[in-house]
Amino acid sequence: MANIETATTPSAFLAQHPIKMLIGGQWVEAASGKTFDTINPSTGQVLAKVAQAEAEDIDRAVAAGRRAFESGQWPKLTPSQRGRLLWKVADLIEQHAEELAELETLDNGKPIKYSRLVDVPLTADHFRYFAGWATKLEGETIPVSVPNMFTYTLREPMGVVGQIIPWNFPLQMASWKLAPALACGNTVVLKPAEQTPLTALRLGELICEAGFPDGVVNILPGFGETAGAALAAHPGVDKIAFTGSTEVGKKIVHASADNLKKVTLELGGKSPNIIFPDADLKFAVRGAMNAIFFNQGQVCTAGSRLFAHKSVYDSVLSGMTDLARKMNLGPGIDPTTELGPLVSQEQLDRVMNYIAIGKREGATPTTGGERAEGDLAQGYFVKPTIFDRVADDMTIAREEIFGPVVVVMPFEEVEEVAARANQSIYGLAAAVWTNDVKKVHKMVAALKAGVVWVNTYNQFDAAAPFGGYKQSGYGREMGHAVLDAYTQTKTAWINLR
Ligand code: ADP
Repeated sequence: MANIETATTPSAFLAQHPIKMLIGGQWVEAASGKTFDTINPSTGQVLAKVAQAEAEDIDRAVAAGRRAFESGQWPKLTPSQRGRLLWKVADLIEQHAEELAELETLDNGKPIKYSRLVDVPLTADHFRYFAGWATKLEGETIPVSVPNMFTYTLREPMGVVGQIIPWNFPLQMASWKLAPALACGNTVVLKPAEQTPLTALRLGELICEAGFPDGVVNILPGFGETAGAALAAHPGVDKIAFTGSTEVGKKIVHASADNLKKVTLELGGKSPNIIFPDADLKFAVRGAMNAIFFNQGQVCTAGSRLFAHKSVYDSVLSGMTDLARKMNLGPGIDPTTELGPLVSQEQLDRVMNYIAIGKREGATPTTGGERAEGDLAQGYFVKPTIFDRVADDMTIAREEIFGPVVVVMPFEEVEEVAARANQSIYGLAAAVWTNDVKKVHKMVAALKAGVVWVNTYNQFDAAAPFGGYKQSGYGREMGHAVLDAYTQTKTAWINLR
């Protein structure tokens, strides 16, 4: 915990060399001594050197998690004491809100106004919501039909939980994973994404400061193919929770098979966003902009397939094109920035490749379709891109791009658009814009997605379950639904005769 006192500003935190990992309550370098660079995506410059966890470090962290789960203070804490620790983390996040927001923006690139307004407050809120659940993990008494038996259930923690998170919402993803797992009494080995390890590590310092016993939370930055793969396959891990691409999600399932660890997955999407002609059009157009361009489109729920009714198609397209041309691109740390850079060179290449494929297959960007020039050429900036003349079977209409790129397609009928919207391997989110109550309920029922937004988009709350249909994942996060992911049920039979 040597870092805590010094690291009260982003620059103080970044001045630690290298930034260490948290294993068993100690801040340590990698067993191999290796480090990796984390990059500021607005400039392409190195922000900090970070200890690089590999299999040996994962072994040590899993052992520390096991010790903390089986012995010491953690299993003896009352639910109320566990809840207080989580609540304390929320308080500390709020006390360090500005520092965390700046660190998040420097490492990820996202506009600082969103780090301040969305990422940090929702992270604190998540810890506070799950602090409340620690005291409410009730079992049931079961009215069995076997004479003289008293039968009841207990909800017990899974054990040592491995958690692997992505780079698009580093702090929020850490809170979605850590808060419910800890509320349920598990211990955790968390691996942040290699692109954005900083805020999870700073959060680790705050978790130590809150007073969690050593080894309950271990945070190991490292690469997916080494640290992540070692965690997913580890025989000492009882459960793995993953958020990331569908492709890697499948690897996690394979890796988990040897010890049949429990798995939950929150994966990719290609979410349909549907504008009916009876919607408040101005509002719907703004909503469609937020749906695709929030967080540079690097959102698993991004409204990347926009269906506009043919009678309003031209107005939707021109309305969005006008707004996109006016968007203020810039470094995340500038408070006037609306669209920041993509997270990495790799992500920039991926998005530019999709844009090239779209053009090759015959779609036309009404705006964007290229990198930003001038001062922004050093960073990973892509102009907001809107594709017209897109057919359902084009690559850009089927595959997840994870960038500021939307495809717009016309439709005519309710049944037709529902069927086309569902034609996807994904089923994470969907949205509908209409003022007709019948259409609302028909579409909510018809859309095969884990969340359907109506006249709104990208709404999240710690109390509302979230997760995917089809290849968008297994299980649900948030709300009481996630408690199933972090507890197991034990049934007790007591013979009263
Ligand atoms: P993206 O492609 O958007 O970077 P990924 O699904 O690759 O998203 O990454 C999400 C998380 O999964 C990151 O923490 C990454 O390090 C991790 N990861 C990547 N590959 C693997 C793997 N083979 N096994 C375990 N974790 C992995």
